[in-house]
Amino acid sequence: MKKIGVLTSGGDSPGMNPAIRAVVRKAIYHNVEVYGIYGGYTGLISGKIKKLELGSVGDIIHRGGTMLQTARCPEFKTPEGQQKGIEQLKAHGIEGLVVIGGDGSYRGARALTQQGYPCVGVPGTIDNDIPGTELTIGFDTALNTVIDALDKIRDTATSHERTFVIEVMGRDAGDIALYAGLAGGAETILIPEEGFDMAEIAERLRKGQERGKKHSIIIVAEGVCSGSEFAQQLKEATNFDTRVSVLGHIQRGGSPTAADRVLASRLGARAVELLIDGKGGRAVGMESNRVVDYDIVEALERKHVLDLDLVKLSKELSI
Ligand code: ADP
Repeated sequence: MKKIGVLTSGGDSPGMNPAIRAVVRKAIYHNVEVYGIYGGYTGLISGKIKKLELGSVGDIIHRGGTMLQTARCPEFKTPEGQQKGIEQLKAHGIEGLVVIGGDGSYRGARALTQQGYPCVGVPGTIDNDIPGTELTIGFDTALNTVIDALDKIRDTATSHERTFVIEVMGRDAGDIALYAGLAGGAETILIPEEGFDMAEIAERLRKGQERGKKHSIIIVAEGVCSGSEFAQQLKEATNFDTRVSVLGHIQRGGSPTAADRVLASRLGARAVELLIDGKGGRAVGMESNRVVDYDIVEALERKHVLDLDLVKLSKELSI
């Protein structure tokens, strides 16, 4: 391949910029031209396509968000929308496409692949919920944002001897809640992969108080319920008065951490290697700290699994 395209799609994540940079620089290093598609699949359908040079991706490695912009595009879920996208790519002479995004974006890449157009998926989402990779680009940065907020909330929780409920993102996955809860020393972590037992939570809070704990932090993944819903249930069950903090979109922004920049660089570069080798229909990911690639169709048939050993550990450490 001598001309490839790159787009970012779906929810943005910190680290998409270093991933774009890696795609562009790696391709140009191998004498392949790169075209940026602006605004995800919406921009693909409408032909918002521009050639990227080495300098186009200068000074973005440390920036959150995505210089290519992102979008949600319902039209791309239809075969007609996908055909329009393929026509645009062909009109520009682009022979393969790197799609950086979450599992929705992967479905778009799968659809293109199934219509005979080579695509490679790069996992960009803070939720860490893409099957086939142990890490997604943006997860580490989001975790650090949550930890920063959690540490600050802990200060006020201690001063006022309060119980705080902190709602974090993650869609249907509990990864952000689990890792942030473990790293931030939360007393209770609620994840969608497990139900919760209010009696057990109440007992744990009471025991903590008895042994002189000045505060309690409960992390609720958005896939379980809203923080305020949980606080209400807790109040009804225990009369415990809590404060609720919904961290929201701050989790999606900010300068990518070193770990995310390195991850994005490795994964973006591998995606280009695959296209240069003429391999479409693949997705890249991490397995035991090695870059791997796998069939995008098969990956989407699998389900992301949370590390159950970590769930167990978080419980052992928060007694
Ligand atoms: P994310 O990639 O972060 O999971 P979405 O689920 O919103 O975000 O998906 C992003 C975009 O991917 C959608 O707006 C749509 O354009 C495209 N997409 C999602 N599902 C499909 C599908 N089944 N077929 C084709 N395109 C899809």
